Amino acid sequence: MTIFILAYDPIIKFIVSRFSVESTACYGYCDDLGFASDDLRRDWIIIKKCFILIKKFSLLELNLDKNQFHLTCKSDLVNQILRLKECDTDITDDQIVEAIKYLGIFLGRCTADTNWDLPLKKFVDATLSIASLSCGFTTSIALYNMLAVSKLSFVATFFMPSQKVLKVEKWALQKLIRGPWGAIPSLALFDIKQIGIPTQARAITDISFSSSVRAANRTSNNFFQEFNIHKNLIGTNDVTVAAAAGLNLKDSFFKFWNDASVSYVDALDPNNNLFNPSLFSQRRVFKFNRSRAMPFNFADLICRRLSFFLDGTFFPRDAERIVGIYRRKAVSLGPNFVSTHFRTITNHWCARSRFGCARIPCWFCRKLDHNTNDRVQHSLNCPVFKEVFLSLHKLSFSFFDLYSLLIFKHAGESLSDNAIDIMLFFNLVSFQTYNRCRNGSDFSVRLVRNVIKNIISKSSNAWSLHSRIKRFGYGSDLIV
Ligand SMILES: [Zn+2]
Repeated sequence: MTIFILAYDPIIKFIVSRFSVESTACYGYCDDLGFASDDLRRDWIIIKKCFILIKKFSLLELNLDKNQFHLTCKSDLVNQILRLKECDTDITDDQIVEAIKYLGIFLGRCTADTNWDLPLKKFVDATLSIASLSCGFTTSIALYNMLAVSKLSFVATFFMPSQKVLKVEKWALQKLIRGPWGAIPSLALFDIKQIGIPTQARAITDISFSSSVRAANRTSNNFFQEFNIHKNLIGTNDVTVAAAAGLNLKDSFFKFWNDASVSYVDALDPNNNLFNPSLFSQRRVFKFNRSRAMPFNFADLICRRLSFFLDGTFFPRDAERIVGIYRRKAVSLGPNFVSTHFRTITNHWCARSRFGCARIPCWFCRKLDHNTNDRVQHSLNCPVFKEVFLSLHKLSFSFFDLYSLLIFKHAGESLSDNAIDIMLFFNLVSFQTYNRCRNGSDFSVRLVRNVIKNIISKSSNAWSLHSRIKRFGYGSDLIV
């Protein structure tokens, strides 16, 4: 690469020296060379002559077929094209393009969709391949951030996501978490740290904003120079105020500048109130921008979903209590205990009844009637599965029902921490056994034992909880 640059640099300098700085700009980066000119015909003749010389001393040849021409004039376009073709009969119609690609970005009128098309395809492919791994809720989200959404980050630096992009993002997130459509809203996944899950999906809008601010700050010296002058306007987000102050800004740009400037406030040094470049990173702008967004209301979602299961026999404050329990248990037991319970509570199991095929018997007891068909309400509360789980742990509860499993309460009383741990463990084992049965395994005590073995082998917290339950059993201390 170094040799390439050493050899390439004099060539670029040689070409640039042939043009007038007022009328032509040359942009060379790696092996991509772009010219912006006010007279394409004149400059193309010079470039071709340059390459006759370059070919003689370097054996490099101008690859004529790969050259593209983009004309920006709105009027007289046809004549301009004819003029260009007259001076060089080798130029074909295919080389005169509506959008020209430079450093991976299409430049030209109405190119926003064209720029998103290819990265979107890669993004969709990556999301589908992550979803096919079945690697669990939390890991899938982490992989999505690393491998899928990163495909869009370069284009997102230059273009805000269009409605089409946002629609594809929503679709991809639902594919990623593999469950009934919309049971867990995509917006919840952008903010799922609220319930203790260590990683949350990165929104394309947030990535686009933070990377644009970084690019604007790095490449334009005056982007923030107005900041100190118009500091009082920051935060008003009011275009009429800006107009009154003599700012001639377009609405969309003002909004961007305003939001970016708020991030700029975040990068002021607390000691002297001056801008500190080291505090101004894309990561920080991203986090700051997210913290300003309206938080997703998990309690409200849980409330709405629980009303489907429990016919209003709970109170909205229970939903807030559940969110608090999730946060604590994600730390003490592990995020998979919480994410699986969240999937249960949001009716996110792939039960056949969710897809309009209610006439499938329960995977555990194999019974089929109105109450026992393949639905979460029954599977979670199936007497056959419950008996296997309780006998494996030598437990005997009288209140091990749907109500206590879902909202951690019995007869109006909150369950103890120990009991909540058991409920979460039961839910995890039940969910995983259910999925194995759905994928072809026959339900048996051995299968449940295998599932438990698998869970406790992956997490020391799960292992200690399992041995705690087996060693002591629980009876009287389950209600606080
Ligand atoms: Zn059953």
